[in-house]
Amino acid sequence: MPRRETTITEYIIGEQRKFPGATGGFTALLNDIRLACKRIAYLVGKGALAGVHGPAGSRNSRGEEQHKLDVLANDIFLATNEWGGHLAGMASEELEAPYAIPAEYPRGRYLLAFDPLDGSSNIDVNVSVGSIFSVLACPEGVAGESELAFLQPGSRQVCAGYAIYGPTTMLVLTFGRGVHGFTLDREIGEFIHTHPDLRVPEEASEFAINTSNARFWEPAVKRYVDECLAGRSGPRDKDFNMRWVASLVAETHRILMRGGVFLYPRDEREQGRAGRLRLLYEANPIAMVIEQAGGRASTGYGPVLAVEPKSLHQRTGFVFGARREVERIEAYHRDHNERPYDAPLFAARGLFRAADGA
Ligand code: MN
Ligand code: MN
Repeated sequence: MPRRETTITEYIIGEQRKFPGATGGFTALLNDIRLACKRIAYLVGKGALAGVHGPAGSRNSRGEEQHKLDVLANDIFLATNEWGGHLAGMASEELEAPYAIPAEYPRGRYLLAFDPLDGSSNIDVNVSVGSIFSVLACPEGVAGESELAFLQPGSRQVCAGYAIYGPTTMLVLTFGRGVHGFTLDREIGEFIHTHPDLRVPEEASEFAINTSNARFWEPAVKRYVDECLAGRSGPRDKDFNMRWVASLVAETHRILMRGGVFLYPRDEREQGRAGRLRLLYEANPIAMVIEQAGGRASTGYGPVLAVEPKSLHQRTGFVFGARREVERIEAYHRDHNERPYDAPLFAARGLFRAADGA
C-alpha cells in the first residue's frame, strides 16, 4: 500500500476534532481560503500567458498604483469567500472600507482580513509573491461590515497564515497551536502537509532591511545594522549576511526556513510616522505565525500582537525573526530613547562616508 500523505483538509478536520462541539464552519472557511490561494497560484503561474501582467491603470484606497493581479487576486478572495456563510465581513488592502457580505448569502461569525497579493511589484520580474490572511471573530453586536469590527489586537486572531507563490506554492498557517506548512501538489490539486511544526531557528546570521532608507532610520536601527555590518571585527563577533526581497511573504518564509531577522522600522521621514507595513492584514498575521514558530514580532518598541488598532489601514514599524535578535533590537530602541547614537559607520570617517576623499 502506498504511503498515505496527509492533506490540508485532513489536517484541518483533525484540528477541529480536538474541539468538542466545533461546528465545522471554521473548516469550511479554511477550505474557501485555500481555494482562493489555489486560484491565485494558477493565475500567477500563467503570468503573461493569461495576460495578467502590467499595471491595472487604477489606484487603491491609499493612492498606490494597482497591478492587474492585485485587482484579480482581490476579486478572487472576495468571490471565493463571500458565499460560504461563515463570514460577517471582509477587509482587504485593496478596498477602502470593509466588504459587506451580499444580502443573498448567510452571514457567519468570523471576519477575514487579507492582503490578496503581497509583493506585487515583483510580479513582472518573476520573483515570489504571496497572499496573507487573518481570521478574527466578529464581536457580539458589531456589524461585520463596520471598520470597528476589525479594530482588534492581533492577539485575538483565531487563525492566520500566508500562501507563497514561488518555485512551489505553499500554504503556511497557524490556529495558535504551532505553525504548519503545506505544499501544493499540482497533479492532484491539493495541499500536502510537508512541513509540520515549523520553528524559527534560534541562531541568526542574516538580516533583511531596505538600506536605501538608512538616512531616515532611528538610532536603534542604525546601531543594530552597523553592528551586523561590522561582523567579526565588531561587538557581535560574528559575520552576518544581508537579504532583501521586498516581498513580505518571501522574507517571512525565508526566516521560517533558515532563520534571521527582518526590519521595516518606523523612521524619521515624517513626524510620528508609524512605519510602512499594514497592521491588520500584513504585520498581525505574520506576527502570529512567527510567534507561534517560537520567534518574536515587534514594532521595535513592543509586541505587534498587543497593538490596539485605531484604523483599518493603519501602518506599523515591523521587526521580526529570531527571538533574541528582536529582543536586542527592542533593547536598542529603549536605550536610544535616552541617549543619542553616534553611528560610527555613518560618521565622517565611517563606512558610508560621502565619497569626497575626506
Ligand atoms: Mn503586502
Ligand atoms: Mn498587496
